[in-house]
Amino acid sequence: MRSRAREALLRFYDAHARALPFRGAGDPYAIWLSEIMAQQTRIETLIPYFERFIARFPTIASLAEAEEDEVLSLWSGLGYYRRARLLHECAKVIVRDYGGEMPRDAAARLALPGIGRYTAGAIGSIAFGFEEPIVDGNVTRVLARLYGWDEPVGSAALEKKLWAEAAALVVGERPGDLNQAMMELGATICTPRAPQCERCPLSADCAAFIGGEPELLPTPRKRSKPRKEPLFLLLAVDPAGEKLLLKKSEGALFGGLFMPPHGIETGDTEGDRDRALEPFGLRSDEAPVKLGELRHILSHIAYEVSVYRIEIEHESEYARGFDELDSLGLSRLTSKALALL
Ligand code: SF4
Repeated sequence: MRSRAREALLRFYDAHARALPFRGAGDPYAIWLSEIMAQQTRIETLIPYFERFIARFPTIASLAEAEEDEVLSLWSGLGYYRRARLLHECAKVIVRDYGGEMPRDAAARLALPGIGRYTAGAIGSIAFGFEEPIVDGNVTRVLARLYGWDEPVGSAALEKKLWAEAAALVVGERPGDLNQAMMELGATICTPRAPQCERCPLSADCAAFIGGEPELLPTPRKRSKPRKEPLFLLLAVDPAGEKLLLKKSEGALFGGLFMPPHGIETGDTEGDRDRALEPFGLRSDEAPVKLGELRHILSHIAYEVSVYRIEIEHESEYARGFDELDSLGLSRLTSKALALL
């Protein structure tokens, strides 16, 4: 069955692979970048980000030399900024330790910052043609359904089976294409809802299809609901109409990004205002004017965000003009809040 599955997957890939800007060239940097961007982001969404990023930083060395603010500004809108910071840090390590070339050795790749088993395998198989397995959400879905595995996603038992099977499947010709075929099948045919089993090259062997209820697999992981937290953003505008933004320190909420005054909303509007303005070295007696409400959801926490405007009487060193905003690393939340002004 395994060799039948391999052949079917490669035939499917030859016939249906989407033309993506990072496919085909076999450039380890392009593949690494696309895989990091693809974590938590849909392929269609990331393509323009990828193209802008690679045009500005065409090599690992050029990325390593960049200022972090510029890297984050090109990442603005993709979210999960820790990925961008680790990518940048990793580029510096590759320049320092490997002359700017992605290491071919799997253990060396795995030891790099921000490169886990999945990314190392994607680079190894797709860029270098090594028989290295990958398991992501798409591969998990395809294999769990194909073999009828019902252990919950994220469980040690399922992870062990998935990696063992992916490692066995990838042995043979065209390991990179085989891995991409599984991801492509999961992204386009074996989708979470309404999989198109009648078009699937694996249907003759697929336990979930034969069982009649493919959507039930894989068994979802048990999640606790994200807790709610009230947050406020204070869009402080100086006499010239510029907005006050301060770069947050690493490790803090929105670390490394430029944020307007903000904090957890307590219901004491004046106290909240004073605390939020303090890091900017400002005080104000003005009552903030509410502009609207937004939601900002992270994996474990759902922020219910009130957005206010306040006029600041004096010019500030933290004031940023409209032209500057594009070149700063802003969170998606800040961009949405600024659009309310
Ligand atoms: S037959 Fe259906 S459930 Fe099975 S792998 Fe193909 S698309 Fe997925």
